[in-house]
Amino acid sequence: MQHQLSLYNTLSRTKEKFEPINPGIIGLYVCGPTVYSDVHLGNCRTFISFDLIYRYLLHLGFKVRYVRNITDAGHLEGDRDEGDDKFAKKAKIEQLEPMEIVQKYTLGFHEVMTVFNTLPPSIEPTATGHICEQIEMIKRIIANDFAYEVNGTVYFNVEKYNEKFPYGQLTNRQLEDLISNTRELDGQDEKRGRLDFALWINAKAETLMKWPSPWGWGFPGWHIECSAMSSKYLGDTFDIHGGGMDLQATHHTNEIAQSQACNHTAPVKYWMHTNMLTVNGVRMSKTAGNGFLPGELFTGNHPLLEKGYSPMAVKFFMMQTHYRSTLDFSNEALQASEKGYARLMNAIKTMDSLKTSNTSTSNISELKKNCYEAMNDDFNSPILVANLFEGARIINSVNDGKESITADDLNTLKILMHTYTFDVLGLKSEHSNTTTDKALQGVMEIILDIRKDIKAKKEFEASDKLRDNLNKIHITIKDTKDGATWSIQE
Ligand code: AMP
Ligand code: ZN
Repeated sequence: MQHQLSLYNTLSRTKEKFEPINPGIIGLYVCGPTVYSDVHLGNCRTFISFDLIYRYLLHLGFKVRYVRNITDAGHLEGDRDEGDDKFAKKAKIEQLEPMEIVQKYTLGFHEVMTVFNTLPPSIEPTATGHICEQIEMIKRIIANDFAYEVNGTVYFNVEKYNEKFPYGQLTNRQLEDLISNTRELDGQDEKRGRLDFALWINAKAETLMKWPSPWGWGFPGWHIECSAMSSKYLGDTFDIHGGGMDLQATHHTNEIAQSQACNHTAPVKYWMHTNMLTVNGVRMSKTAGNGFLPGELFTGNHPLLEKGYSPMAVKFFMMQTHYRSTLDFSNEALQASEKGYARLMNAIKTMDSLKTSNTSTSNISELKKNCYEAMNDDFNSPILVANLFEGARIINSVNDGKESITADDLNTLKILMHTYTFDVLGLKSEHSNTTTDKALQGVMEIILDIRKDIKAKKEFEASDKLRDNLNKIHITIKDTKDGATWSIQE
């Protein structure tokens, strides 16, 4: 295992040395999507960031159980504690069964995750598949006196909890502040305290997705599913819990309270939060209406898009910003990433035909060290990418005869570039296997062969014209002592 990994823990607001609870084994839980509509690119950013984290932990040799849930029940509108079940609402509009909607968008989500070449989690539990576990957890929270029932709805008693354990640690907020920033109870409210939130919600006659419970027919509150499923699969205290930053203040704060109130222990050692994808500085969201669907991005079929971008160019664009910084969408940035991605892929291809020498002009071990240091420093992918570009520069320089490399160093460089580009960043080549690319390869071989014949006949004007015309369509021909080569200009 290489070097020591540090990561930023939201709980302590510092970068900490990463020490798993059990040596060599990691429990990782990430809040998954709510499957009542298509995932937008913002959601994808969070899942792609955790894919990078998962991939690097695997690369370091850890055995990782990665749990990412599917929220398919009880996710509410408004302040998320009141109103109709979102799945039931959408079902009524579309005249579908709620589980038909869940199925449609779950499949869509998986498709998008595959297109972005992310690894599937080890377990992908659904909220509807864990109603019993959620009910059991709520029963224990009531038994421990941190929750109460009113008319078939169960609420978590935040003020009572705060007498024993600090509520709001994750955002470093005091209860008094939080209370003063919340609206007053209006007298009609069943809650005892302004911050109290629902663990179980009483079903109305028209609610479609409901289950029997000790408190009558109802459905679970949104936060309880993650507490119940994470403890079931990873234990009462596990290593890493992740999600988007927007989940920190309410969802994750309440997860901590529920788990602590139920199991008498803090559930998570390291909390990790990814920053938001924004469009013109505004967070991408379903409600803001500024969300591109991944499909729109690939085809370019959206008013904000100048053209379509390939999935790997989009992924590379995401990797060039650290997961804790905001990432603002722009056509210029995507076009730069498209070029950068092509440069990296071309250099990796060129590596196969490099000639070696007795000496190396660049320090490849230093480059390797820098790659590990970048990722060990809280998964700093932009610095890693800068180092991979340095690798690409060395490869091109050696190819142009301006630098040299030994066979051993070339071997180290090959492993380094492949491991980090494909295994850790999770990129893949988009060009080598298509029918069009194979055809282009064949056509270029024929053209270079014809040009060789023309040159042999000393018809240099014709051979130069061929080279110049190819150059006009961004194909570069290089004459070397071993014959001509071609490449596409970036
Ligand atoms: P949801 O389906 O709304 O529960 O969101 C699924 C995941 O996407 C959560 O971890 C959110 O924090 C995350 N997310 C939502 N909007 C964005 C955004 N604009 N940028 C990055 N992550 C986001
Ligand atoms: Zn969650």
